[in-house]
Amino acid sequence: MDISWRDLQGSMKSAALWLVQEVGEGNIFTKEGLRAAFPDKTQIDRRVRELRKHGWVINTSKEEPALEANEQRFVKEGRPVWEAGQATLNQGAAVSAAERRRVMERDGHMCQSCGIVAGDAYADDEFSNAQLTIARRKVSSAEGGSTVELVTECDRCRIGGRAVTADPGYVIQRAGSLKGIENEIFRAWVAAGEREFSKLELLWGDLQSLPPESRAEAKEAILRGGSGGTPIG
Ligand SMILES: [Zn+2]
Repeated sequence: MDISWRDLQGSMKSAALWLVQEVGEGNIFTKEGLRAAFPDKTQIDRRVRELRKHGWVINTSKEEPALEANEQRFVKEGRPVWEAGQATLNQGAAVSAAERRRVMERDGHMCQSCGIVAGDAYADDEFSNAQLTIARRKVSSAEGGSTVELVTECDRCRIGGRAVTADPGYVIQRAGSLKGIENEIFRAWVAAGEREFSKLELLWGDLQSLPPESRAEAKEAILRGGSGGTPIG
């Protein structure tokens, strides 16, 4: 290959070539290493995740529990998105059942806008329960133009209207009242421009996505004392 990742415009394309040229298939890279290579791209983690839609296999600690939270494994190269036309997804196609499962699984069965899991009641409206759907989200790319990303969203976020009108002053005031670890985590999300779900939230989403009987079984085993419980089949 005669082009270098440093020569490319567009974060996703250069991240893809960076993986190929600097990390290599099968190897582990860290968030710190990625950010050091792209110091001026604040959304670089997200761009790397987008590669999955183009057939790239990149494991996190969710797919590969032996990995640390800041580590990912570049398992397999996908489409060469740096080549003309390769980064365009088929926007009109219907979402297949397999694709739907993959997206839900990747998103931890949580609405990617508000974090609610299927069947949970909303914090400000205990009488309506969340239903999850797959939404198409238009993402504008650095080169101009845009791509469409499939994401898990609850009905309410997809429709876009919260019943209550947001008040920026109230949001700022509440953010200012956060203390300790909550304050630290929230500020990190704000700085990164995206919310990173914690291991606890991901695990909670996985638990809620189990069928009712296995969920009851899992709940019992967890409350009985962690790994001492019987495996759930
Ligand atoms: Zn939502």
